[in-house]
Amino acid sequence: MKKREITILGAGLVGSLLALLFEQRGYQVKVYERRSDMRKNKLSAGRSINLAMSVRGWSALEMAGIKKEMEDISIPMLGREIHMGNEPTKFQYYGKNEEAIYSISRGELNKRLMELAEKGGVEFFFDHKCEEVNIDTNEITFSTQNGESKVKADLLIGGDGAFSALRTAYTKKDRYNYEQFYVEHGYKELNIPPGPNGEHLINKEALHIWPRKNYMVIALPNQDGSFTCTLFFPYEGTPSFNSIKTKEDVQAFFEEQFPDAVPLMPALLDDYFENPTASLVTVRCSPWYYEEKSLIIGDAAHAIVPFYGQGMNAGFEDCRILMELIDRHGDDKWDIILKHYNTLRVENGRAISDLALKNFIEMRDLVADPEFLRRKKLEKEIGRLFPDRFNSVYEMVSFSNKQYSYAQDCQKAQDRLMAKVLADPTFQNGEIDEKEKPIIENWLRDYEEEVSAFTQ
Ligand code: FAD
Repeated sequence: MKKREITILGAGLVGSLLALLFEQRGYQVKVYERRSDMRKNKLSAGRSINLAMSVRGWSALEMAGIKKEMEDISIPMLGREIHMGNEPTKFQYYGKNEEAIYSISRGELNKRLMELAEKGGVEFFFDHKCEEVNIDTNEITFSTQNGESKVKADLLIGGDGAFSALRTAYTKKDRYNYEQFYVEHGYKELNIPPGPNGEHLINKEALHIWPRKNYMVIALPNQDGSFTCTLFFPYEGTPSFNSIKTKEDVQAFFEEQFPDAVPLMPALLDDYFENPTASLVTVRCSPWYYEEKSLIIGDAAHAIVPFYGQGMNAGFEDCRILMELIDRHGDDKWDIILKHYNTLRVENGRAISDLALKNFIEMRDLVADPEFLRRKKLEKEIGRLFPDRFNSVYEMVSFSNKQYSYAQDCQKAQDRLMAKVLADPTFQNGEIDEKEKPIIENWLRDYEEEVSAFTQ
């Protein structure tokens, strides 16, 4: 049986990994990318230089047999380090067993994925911007440096990001569901350079957060000793990108709000004025496929805000699930594969987009709230006492491959469980004694009964 030829739009993280996975299954793959070859050009500054990779991302890389190689270019972050200003920082572990999320260079990861795919025989066509797709004929129109060119695809896959050209074509069809909205915050990248001997100037095993209620700065470590920082800030209001305009404004604002960060950021003013302010879009749509002809994947299908560090992870998980469906149903059963992919992934895309929006409040505000911290401590205690029976939603999202929709469903049940624990004076100090275990066990049984109705 001749396998279908695969045409992928976009050589970003998801398009490149997908190309590699198809190639490994013996498919012929062509990838068309709007930009020029990033392996030959310097990456432009200010475009989310590093990303947090967690279990879902690693599982997909493991499927491609390249987990170890990518681990070598990543840095484990065991928890959050909270910077409140003029008091000592506080460290909160992410997991109960020193589980970590990993800071990885977007450019390096993307280049390696392309390299590996190309080595296996995938053909890349750069400077090919998809302008239009006829989804009935799968005819694609590209603009290139030499003018317009047309290609006819067999199985077409849109891995072309949040403003996908293939998805745009889908939206023109009757009964297509589509929603796009922006949060009121944008983001700007800043930088903490390495110390004089190339060392990290703050704890490199942490994701650093400067939470300030309606805005925040975060920092993720890079292998060269630097940190990439991101300021998430409203566009309008006070303070905002609109109100902080001059060099004096920026200096004064940062000295007041982020006093321990300022000495670490010698290029603060240059970064602030030279790096772009970028917006944060959420896209929800369905279905994610059209007949047996095409599908969308990654940000093209589910652009989400970055506050759970899951956009790429979710996109990589799409790739893994798609491959598992091919393996399960067979290379010639694309009608079944695409329907099944759609059923499994659309609801998970929705779930992680909601969870990510909610996590912004947690990161910028709650991580500094004593009652929230007590809850986190008690969740850890319950996890420690009942390791097989309780995982926090954060752990399910970041350290498991359980469905995002399952984690979201469990959220409310966990809120109820934790409300009981928090309200009981026995647990006022955030600790649970061995002898107090039965009280928790009682409530845990109710919780388990509630979540047993949800699909993992
Ligand atoms: P993209 O990376 O956008 O790639 C799409 C590719 O398609 C690009 O190369 C683009 O040039 C190309 N393209 C676009 N249009 C066309 C066209 N018309 N024709 C041809 N080619 C086209 N995710 C995490 O998992 N962890 C994190 O910590 C994290 N942090 C983030 C921080 C920020 C500030 C932001 C903005 C995002 C973050 N994300 C994170 C999300 C992550 O960046 C995305 O989910 C991921 O890049 C999606 O990959 P993709 O390949 O689907 O899309």
